[in-house]
Amino acid sequence: MLFDKFNRIHDYLRISLTDNCNFRCTYCMPEEKIQCLPNHKLMSSGEIIEIADVFVKLGINKIRLTGGEPLLRKDFGEIFEGLSSLPVKMTITTNAFWLNRYIDLFKKTGLKSLNISIDSLDREKFFSITKRDHFETVWSNILLMIEHGFDVKLNIVLMKNVNDDEINNFILLTKDLPVHVRFIEFMPFDKNKWDRNKVISFTDVFDNIYRDFDIIKLHDEKHDTSKKFKVTGHQGTFAFITTMSQPFCVDCNRLRLTADGKIKNCLFGKDELDLLSAFREGQDIKNIITESVASKHFKMGGQFESGYLETSADDVINRSMIKIGG
Ligand code: SAM
Ligand code: SF4
Repeated sequence: MLFDKFNRIHDYLRISLTDNCNFRCTYCMPEEKIQCLPNHKLMSSGEIIEIADVFVKLGINKIRLTGGEPLLRKDFGEIFEGLSSLPVKMTITTNAFWLNRYIDLFKKTGLKSLNISIDSLDREKFFSITKRDHFETVWSNILLMIEHGFDVKLNIVLMKNVNDDEINNFILLTKDLPVHVRFIEFMPFDKNKWDRNKVISFTDVFDNIYRDFDIIKLHDEKHDTSKKFKVTGHQGTFAFITTMSQPFCVDCNRLRLTADGKIKNCLFGKDELDLLSAFREGQDIKNIITESVASKHFKMGGQFESGYLETSADDVINRSMIKIGG
């Protein structure tokens, strides 16, 4: 079992399959052209499965595939099937553009739930955030996944004066659709033009939501990163992921593996250890994994000590989100 020095168990691994994407979300992808990893620097499908197996033997019981856009990998099917044969709960975060291709695979491998990013329900605004005019494809794939019985969570990165006027529309989606809407606070990463004044925190909008809807607080599990709610009579739920304003580090159980095989023990931490090179040299990577877990900071990767209201984008030392894997 992987315990850090604060006695937190680590049983959840997020694996980035690529740092490439077919969207260009302003909050994730740096504006200047970024160099994607060449194939030989990416973990191959076989390496991903073998490395994941080592993690599973150390107690990992849930794996999320992410990126970049994980469905862009031509060998996505092979990777997903291979990982699904391990004794773990599999899931994925995706922009949904290619989802319709994978319904059979997901049914065959027993995928139950997945996270889909959609930051606006308005086609033009969707375009201005993602720089791609793909709203209709994304929306129809969301409906398709619901129709096929998957448990769908929708991720919305809230940004002031960008999409904060759509909060109620997203909550209204939960009336007739059994979806779980999750508002995520805008987080700082390398070159994503983060500004603390653009963060919409849970407390900024909480009163208005209470005024407009008849709301019930739902139970949050120990490792939940969200505060969950439901409008009385609605089929779906909504939640706030308060990473910046009320971090949930105290119960953190997550580790990350970047597409180039570096283990990161925190989304915000700058520290990483090179698992892939060690694996390719035939070393036992168990020690590197335990070393990474042991060196985890208590909070926010050891950054933002004075809280996000005192933080400026220049203070952040980290990869861009597209190069980490959210
Ligand atoms: N391409 C996939 C997608 O968009 O769902 C998976 C990768 S994406 C990096 C994973 C998640 O990170 C998405 O839900 C995205 O909205 C979120 N994300 C990216 N940059 C973010 C930021 N600066 N603040 C908060 N969430 C962010
Ligand atoms: Fe691509 Fe997802 Fe980043 Fe958007 S959030 S640019 S879809 S990786």
